Amino acid sequence: MILVTGGAGYIGSHAVKSLLQQGFRVVVLDNLSTGHRWAVDKNAVFIEGDVGDAAILHSVFTQYPVKAVMHFAASCLVGESVREPLQYYENNVVCSFTLLKAMLQHHVRKIILSSTCAVYGIAKKEGLVESSQLAPINPYGHSKRMIEQMLADFSGTYGLQYVILRYFNVAGAAWLEGIGEVHDPETHLIPNVLLHLLGGKEHVTVFGNDFDTSDGTCVRDYIHVLDLIEAHVLSLKLLLEHENVAKIYNLGTNTGYSVQQIIEACERITHKKAKIVLQGRRLGDPAWLVASAEKIRQELGWRPKYSLEDMIASAWEWHSNGARKHKN
Ligand code: UDP
Repeated sequence: MILVTGGAGYIGSHAVKSLLQQGFRVVVLDNLSTGHRWAVDKNAVFIEGDVGDAAILHSVFTQYPVKAVMHFAASCLVGESVREPLQYYENNVVCSFTLLKAMLQHHVRKIILSSTCAVYGIAKKEGLVESSQLAPINPYGHSKRMIEQMLADFSGTYGLQYVILRYFNVAGAAWLEGIGEVHDPETHLIPNVLLHLLGGKEHVTVFGNDFDTSDGTCVRDYIHVLDLIEAHVLSLKLLLEHENVAKIYNLGTNTGYSVQQIIEACERITHKKAKIVLQGRRLGDPAWLVASAEKIRQELGWRPKYSLEDMIASAWEWHSNGARKHKN
């Protein structure tokens, strides 16, 4: 059985569906602070609770034969982390520590960690490799880096085995399966643009056009959630089929798009025109974050299958159709 923390969230709910489709049994632990009960596949066991609650973890590990953990539960917004660092160190560092301690107490030694490109900080204009310098510039990046360090330290001393996946910018939806991104409030670029084009937001805010990039707006590497989950399944198989795994992989497509280019792509795909309002830079934003995902391609044979158009088109379908069902 696989324990999926944060399995009611955007990425976690896609992972749960995929794991069930691959024949794994799944137990989800989620406190529903940002996730949704409807997003959890009904074939998974669902436990409402906090990943930082040692008593709940004890009962999960006692009750279910958990072989590995996929740890999605976290606070994950760059700007918010600058305003609320206490929340980030508590939800990410403290809760992950409690989870890892409970895993070790119950002899569960395999974990896939959702990490982030925010661990790199300010990057040069080229694909980041996993061995690039780690110098986060916001509490979110720092908090994930600390969890990465715990995994490394616990692997040496306690035999913890891990795959750390450093996500770049995740987008898209498995909308035909009835799941997609629903955040309240929504802060991410692609859903914000699409929600505006659907009439739900007055305009699109662009945070800064004075960065050192070709059009002055920030450049990010966008990856389809289904490609991201495929990498999780490959990582899980690696962990389950081998011993002493300690791996770090970037998950991106090695292609950078600026905020301006993303808005234009959304306009092209939806045949609608966005109203843009320029604001100052958002706290904690580096200008450029683009991945080299060559390592996971070479070692696990992972390749992204979906394009930026696929991400935007599937998110558009989701926001136009699927997500509406869940609004009250
Ligand atoms: N962004 C923006 N307007 C928005 C949301 C985001 O200009 O409404 C910018 C943001 O400042 C960053 C990029 O888009 O440069 C991607 O932000 P997002 O929040 O989607 O992901 P992040 O890179 O922070 O994980």
